[in-house]
Amino acid sequence: MSITRKNSGAPAPRGAIAQRGTDSYAIVPRLPSGVITADQLEALARAIREYGIPIAKLTSGQRIALVGIKAADVPDVWASLGMGEGRAVKHGVHYVQACPGTAACGYGQQDSLGLAARLEKLFDGLDLPGKVKVGISGCPMCCGESYVRDIGLVGRKNGWTVVFGGNAGGRPRVGDELAGGLGADEALALVGRVLAHYRDNAKKCQRTARFVEARGIASVRAALGLAEPAGAD
Ligand code: SF4
Repeated sequence: MSITRKNSGAPAPRGAIAQRGTDSYAIVPRLPSGVITADQLEALARAIREYGIPIAKLTSGQRIALVGIKAADVPDVWASLGMGEGRAVKHGVHYVQACPGTAACGYGQQDSLGLAARLEKLFDGLDLPGKVKVGISGCPMCCGESYVRDIGLVGRKNGWTVVFGGNAGGRPRVGDELAGGLGADEALALVGRVLAHYRDNAKKCQRTARFVEARGIASVRAALGLAEPAGAD
């Protein structure tokens, strides 16, 4: 992906984000669900030392941003890391954050890391009207912030609940539950259907929270052939 934001009049190197007011760039290597190997940690540490990268920042999307890289060093840093690129500015699925779930948490009721890996593979590269952030939690305590992400998945004893239209930004919105008690395959299929509906009907740059506010969640449910939850107006 070539990011065309300019810095000092020069196009940003491939896979880099211009840092406003400086002659340096940031890169965001891809770390699905924030899971990282010893080899990747060593590669990151080597690159930070070798290229004098002043800031390595854990992001809210469970990635590590390397900030303050000289333009000429960007291709070499990417080559030395041997890691893919995490989306940072382009529309589409930006990141999938996931709590440890049954893999590493005693409260886990579903395998959040496993579902996150499948979801990321399925929807990586999908062109969408705006940024889509996904939060996956292995139990209703929701450490994966599922209700304030564009797409949320919450693990319960009876399966997955799919949530749509959440946002934790300046105009926060709690997402709406679309369906619950789903197996992993069913949950991923529903995520695919709601993303397709969003892609085909939202305005350019309209986040899912604003899309649901404009259309109404009842219209989204109707378009997907989903029942209204009991007690809904
Ligand atoms: S959401 Fe539940 S399973 Fe996930 S880390 Fe929190 S307590 Fe553990």
